[in-house]
Amino acid sequence: MDLFEYQARDLFAKHGVPVLPALVAGTPEEAEAAASSLGGKTVVKAQVKTGGRGKAGGVKLAADPADAREKAGQILGMDIKGHTVHKVMLAAAAQIEAEYYVSFLLDRANRTFLAMASVEGGMEIEEIAVTKPEALAKVPVDATEGVTAEKAREIVAAANFPAEVADQVADVLQSLWKVFVAQDALLVEVNPLVLLKSEDGSAAPGLSGGKIVALDGKVSLDANAAFRQPGHAELEDKAAADPMEAEAKEKHLNYVKLDGEVGVIGNGAGLVMSTLDVVAYAGEAHGGVKPANFLDIGGGASAEVMANGLEIILGDPAVKSVFVNVFGGITACDAVANGIVQAFALLGSRGEVVDKPLVVRLDGNNAQLGREILTEAALPGLEQVDTMDGAAARAAELAAAK
Ligand code: GDP
Ligand code: MN
Repeated sequence: MDLFEYQARDLFAKHGVPVLPALVAGTPEEAEAAASSLGGKTVVKAQVKTGGRGKAGGVKLAADPADAREKAGQILGMDIKGHTVHKVMLAAAAQIEAEYYVSFLLDRANRTFLAMASVEGGMEIEEIAVTKPEALAKVPVDATEGVTAEKAREIVAAANFPAEVADQVADVLQSLWKVFVAQDALLVEVNPLVLLKSEDGSAAPGLSGGKIVALDGKVSLDANAAFRQPGHAELEDKAAADPMEAEAKEKHLNYVKLDGEVGVIGNGAGLVMSTLDVVAYAGEAHGGVKPANFLDIGGGASAEVMANGLEIILGDPAVKSVFVNVFGGITACDAVANGIVQAFALLGSRGEVVDKPLVVRLDGNNAQLGREILTEAALPGLEQVDTMDGAAARAAELAAAK
């Protein structure tokens, strides 16, 4: 889960990473009030979960509260790389002497954590990594040792930080590592980490020159750690979550919304993923019909899980047909077939009609028995096809015909 900058800033502050005073606003009026209470010049920053806000015009300096109101008016509602700006963060404006880059992340390829640092911060790090790889220091961090004072100095030295900021940057690195560990993050990134100008006459209180502060923050949290991070749930951006995904999550279903027309239900993540491929391939012959979702109901799927899955998929207006692809294993096909029959009854009792065609393919353990159960039940709109390819083709054809 990626966080907004203001949320990252809060976590930084909590663990001792130096940040500037800041407030969040949802309207130009709130921005004006925030700027007054911050005092002096402010910077108005779009809160969207994407980088490059500066280049897109989503970061603007404001001379006074009235100006902050105007700048917020320009930024709120702006579209940055497909993200609409609903909030701005106002922070005391910094007079920047130098911009650096520091981050910690999980380096999956090398099975370790990695520190990255550069004295050429500000611009996008992907660009530095490509155009000037020697300017980006990469130092592995051992998970059990973490960022000790010694490791912090090693990172500082590898990136060639100037001597006068070395101690401060080393301290920031240790605090930033605390954020990474305490919050179960997959990424903590500061770009830019800045050195404030020393001759800064107009600085707001606390903005003394020569100090190092984190001017931007990017944090990505590990969703797998949610069980031991009760505070993380409230960091979720519920307004942005797909409503169907949110509903599926509430029902503990592994559901991902996609943008096609064939609803897909299967048992087992691997089977569902290959089903998506097969449906997309079959769809090519039917005007480019594509899968509408990923939904793995897992092994041992009960009638209730099947009903919940069907309910989510049938409730998606984009869905024109549904492909139920089951390979019977420990849970045999007859149990799944009974589950489907009961799911229809359950949906009926919830006042929902299954008004979209369903193609079911049962194979594996007790497939024959499962097929007989479905044939006998003669559920409206349900057809069976014995092969995965054949069923995918039929589901695609039905979706295209709608
Ligand atoms: P990003 O473009 O999404 O990464 O947004 P940033 O928060 O990193 O801001 C982009 C750039 O705006 C920074 O690299 C700075 O050069 C500039 N900037 C941000 N805050 C301030 C500030 O308080 N004062 C000044 N002078 N520049 C700022
Ligand atoms: Mn940045």
